[in-house]
Amino acid sequence: MKVKDLLAEGEKRLSAAGIENPALEAWYMLEDICGIDRVHYYTHPVEVADSECAERFEEAIRRRMGHEPLQYILGKTCFMGLDFMVGPTVLIPRQDTEVLVETVLSYIKSKDVDVLDMCTGSGCILLSLMALGGLDHGWGSDISADALQMAERNQKALDIQGAQWILSSLFEEMTGKYDMIVSNPPYISSGEIDGLMPEVRDFEPRLALDGEEDGLAFYRAISQKAPEFLKPGGMLFFEIGCTQAADVTACMAAHGFKNICTIKDLAGLDRVVYGNIA
Ligand code: GLN
Repeated sequence: MKVKDLLAEGEKRLSAAGIENPALEAWYMLEDICGIDRVHYYTHPVEVADSECAERFEEAIRRRMGHEPLQYILGKTCFMGLDFMVGPTVLIPRQDTEVLVETVLSYIKSKDVDVLDMCTGSGCILLSLMALGGLDHGWGSDISADALQMAERNQKALDIQGAQWILSSLFEEMTGKYDMIVSNPPYISSGEIDGLMPEVRDFEPRLALDGEEDGLAFYRAISQKAPEFLKPGGMLFFEIGCTQAADVTACMAAHGFKNICTIKDLAGLDRVVYGNIA
């Protein structure tokens, strides 16, 4: 089959399955799975795809037609300009979360800052902070051993030294004191999960999404315990759901945090809440 027909056919099938950007996604698959980029394609328009490549492309199209996220099919995504490997054991890093990373980065003034990323998942937050903030050490924790395995793979692939991974349900196994605790915890209320798009609902780990009854369980638990694990003046940074700023602010205030600020994402929605202890 000609590459041109393979691409057109793939696009048509994605479109029929209700995928929002069928042309773009078919391109990503062609580039990634068959190694044919746009320049090559346009300079070799009638090239015939070898059968192994066509098969792999078609398998990817089939998976995507079942609404599996493109990032899981390709096994990777880009976050803060870095490539992260992803799979069904970890939440796919979101662009929204880059606002959290940028906010924390603006407070990192030396490579010695002790940062803990709680609920680290793929490790995207901690590893971006280390790579872009020049940190020579950092800690990431998660309740899922599978997630930590992915975080460690990402650390190796990005060639970042000094990250340590801690298997822990929130603070249970934690020791030590940190300058900053950062977290993008699960924050969707249990009742809302069924209404999410199938890509999220049926494929991303529920453990990484479910913030229990009102979506705020992790903010409460982390805000309550964090002061014990922060050095004097230490900071706590959260990513939040866009309707949660007032509740998360109140919760942090109730546990002694001061100077609590909210930062909006690029869509103008509340996305980050942070503050410090005395
Ligand atoms: N910290 C990871 C991320 O931001 C995972 C978050 C989660 O599992 N809720 O992508």
